[in-house]
Amino acid sequence: MVKCECPACYFVFELDEGTIVSEVIPCPDCAVDLEIIAIENGEANAEVAEIAEEDWGE
Ligand SMILES: [Zn+2]
Repeated sequence: MVKCECPACYFVFELDEGTIVSEVIPCPDCAVDLEIIAIENGEANAEVAEIAEEDWGE
């Protein structure tokens, strides 16, 4: 089991087996897209994925 804390809402959840670094998964609580940046000692570090789908402008 690998645990991951959402950096946006601090919800802690377990990653599916086979989740790999650089995979993008949605937070099960706040639904933000998270990119897995490291997996170590049963814990994963994630950051909010920057997805440039659209240019929102200012
Ligand atoms: Zn979240």
